[in-house]
Amino acid sequence: MEKVVIIGAGCAGLTAAVYTARAGLQPLVVTGPQPGGLLTTTTTVENYPGFPDGIGGYELMERMQKQAERFGARIRLGTVESADLSARPFALVVDGERIETEAVIVASGASHRRLGLESEAKLENKGVSYCATCDGALPVFRNKPLVVVGGGDSACEEALYLTRFASAVHLVHRRDQLRASKIMAERVLSNPKIVPVWNCVVTEILDVAQGRVTGVRLRNVKTGAESVLECAGVFIAIGHVPNTGVFRSQLEMDDAGYIITRNGVRTNVPGVFAAGDCVDKVYRQAVTAAGMGCAAAIEAERYLTGMGK
Ligand code: NAP
Repeated sequence: MEKVVIIGAGCAGLTAAVYTARAGLQPLVVTGPQPGGLLTTTTTVENYPGFPDGIGGYELMERMQKQAERFGARIRLGTVESADLSARPFALVVDGERIETEAVIVASGASHRRLGLESEAKLENKGVSYCATCDGALPVFRNKPLVVVGGGDSACEEALYLTRFASAVHLVHRRDQLRASKIMAERVLSNPKIVPVWNCVVTEILDVAQGRVTGVRLRNVKTGAESVLECAGVFIAIGHVPNTGVFRSQLEMDDAGYIITRNGVRTNVPGVFAAGDCVDKVYRQAVTAAGMGCAAAIEAERYLTGMGK
């Protein structure tokens, strides 16, 4: 019987692991399919406090894991296939094995929604990015034309952020109207560095043969016309998909699948806490996820103390 199982080993999960481990709860961390979480897919992280020269996303997560292990956290590579949160103790099935636990911290994160192009996958981290805040300042993008794909608040935020570095930002959207909030849309449309490209979808990212981004192939969805737009980078911001499918019908979620919490990190099931990108669709930063992981750990500890565990 475990005292606390943490589902997910990104910033939220590993911070929860550090705190619950230091509280003597010997947490079991189930990594999920992407140990280290989304940050391991980025290059240099320059906005995590404490690293004035930046730190590699992978290295940051490796360090968090070591820190958690130092205090007694156990890391288990594996994926939660099913969960029964309807009775105590809670039961999880991890790669076929049943695990029982008094408390659960869900920190299963979110995945970037992808366009689904072969060239997109091949050029990821070679000019294709899902995070302007993480990658926008890299030298390869400086004073070069860049493309942002999407029409929501995220795409607007990415486009505005990239104007600091790019010579021009082409905002490629599949309709002729932004989905983003009025204020964000106005900021984008009045920014002289941002060029909207309406009614267009990206059909291919160039150039896989060169192993770097040189442009995108576009198709106008109204006219069918094809064109090529030169750029040094493509930032895809077409939404996120929270990794919460396994908890559907047990944890309260919004229509998009984000877990709804009360008082920060409590779910509708007492003893189950949630933190990080599976909850947060607004900030989505490493440091905010870490903060929520800390809060979830403190709440889990209080819950277990209240239960006399
Ligand atoms: P979103 O609002 O769902 O917007 C996704 C955008 O991507 C939409 O414009 C959508 O086009 C487009 N899209 C989706 N799938 C696509 C595909 N396969 N190919 C091409 N385009 C595609 O997602 P989001 O921008 O990440 O925002 C999520 C939530 O977080 C929203 O509630 C937003 O307000 C909030 N948020 C707020 C802020 C802020 O206030 N500063 C910042 C970021 C996010 P359509 O419009 O045609 O559907």
